[in-house]
Amino acid sequence: MDILYLVVPCYNEQDVLRETAKRLAAKLAGMIDRAIVSAESRILFVDDGSRDKTWEIIDSLHNENNLILGAKLSRNCGHQNALLAGLMTAKEYADMVISMDADLQDDVDAVDRFVDEYYKGSDIVYGVRSSRKKDTFFKRNTALGFYKLMKGLGVDVIENHADYRLMSKRALEGLSQFDEVNLFLRGIVPLIGYKSSIVTYERAERFAGESKYPLKKMLGFAFDGITSFSIKPIRIITWLGFLIFVISLITVGYSLIVKITGHTVSGWTSIVGSIWMIGGIQLLCLGVIGEYIGKIYKEVKARPRYFIEKVLK
Ligand code: UDP
Ligand code: MG
Repeated sequence: MDILYLVVPCYNEQDVLRETAKRLAAKLAGMIDRAIVSAESRILFVDDGSRDKTWEIIDSLHNENNLILGAKLSRNCGHQNALLAGLMTAKEYADMVISMDADLQDDVDAVDRFVDEYYKGSDIVYGVRSSRKKDTFFKRNTALGFYKLMKGLGVDVIENHADYRLMSKRALEGLSQFDEVNLFLRGIVPLIGYKSSIVTYERAERFAGESKYPLKKMLGFAFDGITSFSIKPIRIITWLGFLIFVISLITVGYSLIVKITGHTVSGWTSIVGSIWMIGGIQLLCLGVIGEYIGKIYKEVKARPRYFIEKVLK
């Protein structure tokens, strides 16, 4: 039997924490009883520098129940960093780690199916929400657009998967080799590779409290996701520059014809021609410089280039 850790980042979650702990502890205790996971399995709450009673609650939960552990970050570092902190802490003790939100939006009962998939040989199990019926029209469509955009820019993300996932110890070892500061775990995890599978679940509404991801943070997160994984936007500039340069040649030809046929005031031809040409050349040059910056950017990230899955010896 393997050791399971549930990692839950919490930021100002005093309204939901006790209920979440109750349900997760019941789930884990049940699984330990049925000998599905080891009795050393635990729930790790990570307090991401909350300003409310979150840490006090985690502390008292820890005293009441030995299944519950806590880690407190020195300040608010953001969801992704809090999650990483939890995963890296749990990795030392666990064989598999499931990350989930504190607000009970992620269906706790899916945990059994995650663990099933793990025992069947998956190193990574993605929780994918089965529908977005409960989302607002706005959230549903912006999310959909975001996944489309990411795919279009060549970033490998699992559609409708947030951060509800299981990772095995070696997948976490892989994750620990990514040194980047702009964390977008949903983009990084598929890069680790290994055998993965999907578990679908119905995403509920927030149990209590309010979302810690207002629109501004959400947009920032999306922008970060794109710019941390794709240098296609730079390439688009290069192509735009090329296109405008071609258009400029046509424009110059056209304005020369207009000049020769005498339908123009003096000076117009040279101004129109140079505006297009200079504009095109500038964009093209920006794109070329950008290509090099993109390369530097990738080198600076120094991401691991491979993970060996199996060795025959
Ligand atoms: N969270 C965090 N630090 C932050 C913001 C959020 O640890 O700075 C946690 C939060 O407590 C929750 C999870 O990240 O467990 C997801 O946040 P939330 O449910 O507010 O996001 P939503 O579901 O609205 O997208
Ligand atoms: Mg939520």
